Amino acid sequence: MSVDYYEILSVSRNASGAEIKKAYRKLAMKYHPDRNPDDKGAEDNFKSCTEAYEVLSDKKKREIYNAYGHDGLKNSGYSGPGSSEDVYSSFGDIFGDLFGMGGGQRSRTRPDGPVKGNDLRYDVEISFMDAVHGVSKEVELTRRDTCWTCEGTGCRPGHHKQTCKTCGGRGQVVRSQGFFQMSATCPQCHGEGSIVTEPCTDCHGEGLVEKTKKVALKIPAGVDTDARMRLRGEGEGGRRGGGTGDLYVVVHVEEHDFFKRDGDTIYCRLPVSMVKAALGASVDVPTIHGKRSLDIPAGSQSGERFSLKKEGVVNLRGRGKGDMIVELQVMTPVNLCDEQKKALNEFETLCQEHGQDTEEEGFFKKFFHDVLGKN
Ligand SMILES: [Zn+2]
Ligand SMILES: [Zn+2]
Repeated sequence: MSVDYYEILSVSRNASGAEIKKAYRKLAMKYHPDRNPDDKGAEDNFKSCTEAYEVLSDKKKREIYNAYGHDGLKNSGYSGPGSSEDVYSSFGDIFGDLFGMGGGQRSRTRPDGPVKGNDLRYDVEISFMDAVHGVSKEVELTRRDTCWTCEGTGCRPGHHKQTCKTCGGRGQVVRSQGFFQMSATCPQCHGEGSIVTEPCTDCHGEGLVEKTKKVALKIPAGVDTDARMRLRGEGEGGRRGGGTGDLYVVVHVEEHDFFKRDGDTIYCRLPVSMVKAALGASVDVPTIHGKRSLDIPAGSQSGERFSLKKEGVVNLRGRGKGDMIVELQVMTPVNLCDEQKKALNEFETLCQEHGQDTEEEGFFKKFFHDVLGKN
């Protein structure tokens, strides 16, 4: 291992720190054992370029190396060609910021800083009519709120948190995973960097206490199942001055016995008597906005649809009201008395005298003529 460090990294003797880093990164990626499994040559290259980088990236070591070479480093007490542990810690440091771990993460977060409260979800079930017309509801929510005795610090008033000894206050500990170094949340302080030694008696050091609060929900007209409403600041309380989370209300709408809904359109099935359907009539129709009247023309059939303009649901985004679609259901009379039966039989005879086919006779005539080609 006495090859020149500058040659190993293919940089000039007066290369800058950035150039050295760049050269090393390129080579380390190329020869990294994870990318070259069971390749002894690659592993040796990886070790020697890491060793070269370790010396040339350190100002003091580089000076000694420039003046006295490999022996100079050995004699000066620097281990020079490092143990494999050193090799991989260099690798971890240089790639830490690249992969978003190691050193980079540690400096980005302030472990003991303010923590915003969690967002919460609340599912609310409302009736069909409440969804259509809107409703104001007051709900009681139990959630974790900032403990004001300790202002969310978790410490008994007059006391402070102690720096965590396991991670030295960084909130992260470095773990080796194969050849990589990963930083993980400190198991001792759970990433906080400090530990409550004198816990607040109200929240037992949590910084949060369970509180029940009444929250007013204003559910607008036109909502439907799975509509979400966000109530800012009604979520879980923050800690150490962090903001409160938000509350997301998710709406579920109950079914209605009579009305169905598709977006802003309301559907309903309207039963009408056989006689009214035959003769035509003005009938009452219940809508979500009240009673309306509908003119059914003579000879209306079951399944025929009529549209009542603007009798649907108010559009949530201000696009006016939808329509209501009424589907007729012609009812066959049941439980007839003798007189009614007699009247219907007379009616049937009259139909035949007038040469009017009943529906079924018409159907069979058509069937024999068109399908079987017979009369
Ligand atoms: Zn407290
Ligand atoms: Zn810790």
